[in-house]
Amino acid sequence: MNKSIKHTIDYCQKNFSPYQFKQVRILEFPRYQQFAQSFPNTIPFSEAIGFIMILSDDSVVDMAYYVTSHEVAHQWWGHQVAGANTLGSTIMVESMAQYTALMVMEKEYTAKNINKYLKYELDRYLAGRSFERKGEQPMVTCDNQQYIHYQKGSLVMYQLKDLIGEDSLNAALSRFIKEYGFQSAPYVQSPTFVNYLRNATPDSLKYVVTDLFEKITLFNLQTTEATAIKQGNNYRVKIKTEAEKVYSDSIGNEQKIPIRDWIDIGVFTEGANGKDSLIYVKRNHFNKKESEFEITVSAKPTKAGIDPMFKLIDRATEDNLKKIEVEN
Ligand SMILES: [Zn+2]
Repeated sequence: MNKSIKHTIDYCQKNFSPYQFKQVRILEFPRYQQFAQSFPNTIPFSEAIGFIMILSDDSVVDMAYYVTSHEVAHQWWGHQVAGANTLGSTIMVESMAQYTALMVMEKEYTAKNINKYLKYELDRYLAGRSFERKGEQPMVTCDNQQYIHYQKGSLVMYQLKDLIGEDSLNAALSRFIKEYGFQSAPYVQSPTFVNYLRNATPDSLKYVVTDLFEKITLFNLQTTEATAIKQGNNYRVKIKTEAEKVYSDSIGNEQKIPIRDWIDIGVFTEGANGKDSLIYVKRNHFNKKESEFEITVSAKPTKAGIDPMFKLIDRATEDNLKKIEVEN
């Protein structure tokens, strides 16, 4: 927790704006309630979250580190920037605390381990929308729906960072805080925030900001074939994929949209600990449903496919990757 506080304050000061207090403290409270919450320079934190955790199993997400970082990030997103009491406002608070914590965690746990967390967020977002009762909203008009401002927030901010780069995105966020931090009424609203993101995005990619923040966008991605042949010391991997994009309305009616998106193709090998390790990943532009790829790798491939780190919102992730039996 202490490490996470320090890392988060350093990250936010470097990328967004100075911290406004001279201390920060965590107050531990009994597990009658299970939450943590950020007040100015003070964070009550339930004993039920992260005080007792077994972290030796590396498939476990370090929630003590992550939740602390999220709460410290609220000293910026919530305590420096406070949105109007209107639809979409929580994306400037909760989604931004999620994004900040993801970026801080990515430095501590490496980008590779982040996909474990993205997958966790993806599953929770999809579960959340399947239980929606009053209609799913896009990010920009999120109606205080937690699966949207937390879970989808992590996913869309990570995608945007992946496309335009962390520095460009943070420079835009810093400009936004400079303009709207510590303001009084009338408070800023979410369309203004989304425009800061759009302005930081090259023209050729502005449609992604629309897809991520103003639409409910879903992908159907799958790998239909993955084979490999040994060639000398290398392996020639062949992959066939299918990719479709749809927009959903608030009650789940879907409309097919021509795909014109950048999506990763990846190949895994068996890592040192016996687990799959990504040896090749490259972003490709998709403009039709079916595509084929040929890739040469130097280690024996175990599986390969589309969107290997689960960055995009796809309801069936289990068909993204296919096992490879190498032909000699
Ligand atoms: Zn929060």
